[in-house]
Amino acid sequence: MYNYKPSNITDTNISGNATKFSPTNTNKDVEIPTVGTSSINKDVNVGFSCDKENYSTIISGVNSSKHLHLQNGFPEALTVDLIPATRKGNPTFGNKTIFWKTACNVRKLRSNFKEKFSNFSEANDQSLLLRRDQSPIYLQFNPYIFKGYRPILTTWGCIRSLFYLHNETVNIVTHALALMYALICLPTLLPWHQIQIPVLPYCHVVATFAPWLGSFIYHLFMNHEGGCKTYMKLLKWDIIGIWITQTCGAFTTIYAGTACLPLLLCYGVRFMYLMFCMKALFAATFASSAWQRRTSFLFLLLMRLFVLCIRLTTFGGGHSQALVHVIMQEMWSVTGAVISATHVPERWLPGKLDIVFNSHNIMHVLVIFGVMHMHWAVEKDFTWLSEGGCIP
Ligand SMILES: [Zn+2]
Repeated sequence: MYNYKPSNITDTNISGNATKFSPTNTNKDVEIPTVGTSSINKDVNVGFSCDKENYSTIISGVNSSKHLHLQNGFPEALTVDLIPATRKGNPTFGNKTIFWKTACNVRKLRSNFKEKFSNFSEANDQSLLLRRDQSPIYLQFNPYIFKGYRPILTTWGCIRSLFYLHNETVNIVTHALALMYALICLPTLLPWHQIQIPVLPYCHVVATFAPWLGSFIYHLFMNHEGGCKTYMKLLKWDIIGIWITQTCGAFTTIYAGTACLPLLLCYGVRFMYLMFCMKALFAATFASSAWQRRTSFLFLLLMRLFVLCIRLTTFGGGHSQALVHVIMQEMWSVTGAVISATHVPERWLPGKLDIVFNSHNIMHVLVIFGVMHMHWAVEKDFTWLSEGGCIP
């Protein structure tokens, strides 16, 4: 709970009135208190502090049973906006200089907070949703999605959110359906009786489940009461799901595409792809920004495009009917990644595509298309490899 209290916050209930000082009081420069505490209601105390560089809102004395939403990162949502300083040099009062921080009016900060708190408490009713600025900072990653954010919820609350509409519903449902489809079709996913290749078919099965499972869990529980730490763990699982597909799933395409190359070159390319996979796993799980996460898969893509080029020559292996699916597989996933990274189309219609048709929704659907084509390509290549195609 939020019992931390920096040393500059006093227990006394300073009025926060910026005019509360006596200009006759001192020979030194005048400094007005810029800290204050306020009791928003019986269960929540708030401290304010501001100076030239920083300002903060400290929430303490929270009755956790009544204000679950104030736990685990959510105070960030209640941080009050800094009152703009009008400083042009230090202001003066008579012949005394007033320190810059007197420009920070604690009374006003307190009233801003009260307003935010009442909106927020109302929004914490689980049937209501939050605006972006009421949501924790780590969930504010898309600047063009304005509303529809779920409040911080318990595990059960997150599960219950499956049954009402919010701005993650489409992301959850798209990959939940893909997961269910993959589960239902598992026995008929591959023509097992025709396949003579060891290990790879099982890797492919894992690759057709992993992205949906990781993504479904990530999107469903991203607002879990575990806060930012839990969010980062879930994000890692989402990324690992994508990595499994790109490693275990796409490796069959690399394997078949290089099957007709001279032995050394064939094993060299396969080995390099697996090395890039390891590098991508490390880079993606330790990435500190969304762009780092995206670019960590870049070498895998380039490598697959290289093998695709080999397929187009007489040295290329793989089933002839798989080629179109390999091209489509890459096309859908690259298009999805570009759409997601550029926040198109919601950047053209900010706040209008909060619930559906935003870039992440579109990317989710395109990823499904990509994996479907990957599956069709792999299915053909397994048959080709099982019939003894060019295995060195
Ligand atoms: Zn997603």
